[in-house]
Amino acid sequence: MSLDLGIPTTVSAKSSRPDVGPGLVDRFGRVASDMRLSVIDKCNLRCTYCMPAEGMPWLPKSMLMTIDENTRLVAIGVDLLGVRELRLTGGEPLVRHDLEEIVASIHERCPELSLSLTTNAVGLASRAAKLKAAGLERINVSLDSLHPGIFAQLTRRPMLDQVLAGIDAAKEAGFRPVKINAVLQRDINDHEASDLLAWALAGGNELRFIEHMPLDGDHRWNRTRVVDAAEIRAALETRFRLDPDPAERGGAPAERFEVRPPGAGLDTPALGRVGLISSVTEPFCAACTRTRVTAEGRVMSCLFSHEEFDLLEPLRAGADDEAIAQRWREAMWAKPRAHGSDTVGLTSPEYVQPERSMSAIGG
Ligand code: SAM
Ligand code: SF4
Repeated sequence: MSLDLGIPTTVSAKSSRPDVGPGLVDRFGRVASDMRLSVIDKCNLRCTYCMPAEGMPWLPKSMLMTIDENTRLVAIGVDLLGVRELRLTGGEPLVRHDLEEIVASIHERCPELSLSLTTNAVGLASRAAKLKAAGLERINVSLDSLHPGIFAQLTRRPMLDQVLAGIDAAKEAGFRPVKINAVLQRDINDHEASDLLAWALAGGNELRFIEHMPLDGDHRWNRTRVVDAAEIRAALETRFRLDPDPAERGGAPAERFEVRPPGAGLDTPALGRVGLISSVTEPFCAACTRTRVTAEGRVMSCLFSHEEFDLLEPLRAGADDEAIAQRWREAMWAKPRAHGSDTVGLTSPEYVQPERSMSAIGG
């Protein structure tokens, strides 16, 4: 098979995986080492781009992986499949009261693993120090507006104060920088791009804008409404100078820029950095190193996959580590070329949005 990224081989997704080594290799030569593990599908916010107002039919508790099950799957990933980074996500991971124990258990079993969390930060104020003590290394917080009213409109919950308190607590606990993820919605918070950046720079946080992807629970996504990375960059450049970050991008989804005051030369120290994640307009699928596991233990090789591979059922039925690892390899072998399909792109009329919303996958 070819190891050139993004170049299709002739091997069919349906054919079983040939012997291409022990790692999570797919048909296009990509190797996944970056695991996203959803620990819960529930959330305490209802962001319009992610969930319907009424929420979702939540998984029953019996279907959520326990602390030991989460730890075992991560250990299989690390010991047998080459997983090197783990991000815990959801739904909202802080909705799990045993999140600190999940972190501690994984950290104890896999001390070398880089361990991070994506959260909306509601309730983080009282838990950030405990998460740090449990072994968490990094935190990303999602925050789309600095105005209480707009925040409440976007998330359908009036909780901006809690989020800001959570970010402060994370910094006090030693998480630096806290990365901030923002999604802009046209005519709602798209005027806030440069205010969000000014705020992030002042607080020493690193901001990344994510283009709105068709993974909303309401299935109302429309390409013409997406505030794209080029537009966001132009908005930021009305107030800041942006220069491509000379650091190697690697498999990182964000294109990073150094930020300087307008008119400053390259010899002026940067105020900080900003990232643009162009998931819709310039997808980074060819360099993707992700493998995702949902809260009920299903591997999704891509956010936009229509196929899922259950690991929890064999795990609960007593399968050994190698059998589970092999199923995980098969799941990743079938990873589509880009955005859930080998042939159809996100903006094509033939594109079919997956049934799962972002919250039910683990973003
Ligand atoms: N609840 C946590 C949070 O909001 O950070 C973790 C899960 S959330 C699904 C993970 C990330 O996905 C958040 O940064 C959120 O903004 C992003 N997200 C959710 N739906 C999205 C969509 N349709 N397009 C782009 N990003 C989305
Ligand atoms: Fe909840 Fe995160 Fe989805 Fe917002 S983006 S509804 S906080 S899971």
